[in-house]
Amino acid sequence: DPRTQGIASTIRVVPNFPKPGIMFQDITTLLVNPKVFKDTIDLFVERYTGKGISAVAGVEARGFIFGPPIALAIGAKFIPLRKPNKLPGEVMSEEYVLEYGADCLQMHVGAVQPGERALVVDDLVATGGTLCAAIALLERAGAEVVECACVIELPELKVSSSDLLDGCMLIPNSI
Ligand code: IMP
Repeated sequence: DPRTQGIASTIRVVPNFPKPGIMFQDITTLLVNPKVFKDTIDLFVERYTGKGISAVAGVEARGFIFGPPIALAIGAKFIPLRKPNKLPGEVMSEEYVLEYGADCLQMHVGAVQPGERALVVDDLVATGGTLCAAIALLERAGAEVVECACVIELPELKVSSSDLLDGCMLIPNSI
């Protein structure tokens, strides 16, 4: 799709952020280009329309930027998956291992019903650890995760079974 080239070219790479040695993929330069931002959302909407998806779960924080417009366009609810102690109601938690240390994602109990078909959205997949925690939360609540959708895949940290579409990354639920 010719739109993926435009998407990839608007993502800024910032060396040594937030710490030395990290090449940070900055999607704010994509967001300030309304045509490319719309192309990004449209690509996902075209892929997920008519797939019976009733829930879009976005990973804090940049999954909160791409997830809601996709959810609205396909007629699905939006579920925020948040870092610990941000959600006010009863939560389910899933811890996951990072390169240095551990982190945790939380979801409100009752946000999704058993049998619902869900999509997970984040800006970027590196090791896939964050997406695996998101999938685990939704599956523990009885939902079926149809797919995970990310804008960027870090090429040096390729997730197995990934389906790379230039600047647009869509991975089946097989990680
Ligand atoms: P993973 O769990 O190793 O796949 O890392 C993915 C998570 O780290 C996502 O939630 C991303 O938002 C975040 N992340 C890691 N590196 C970057 C980056 O270079 N730019 C933006 N987000 C990043």
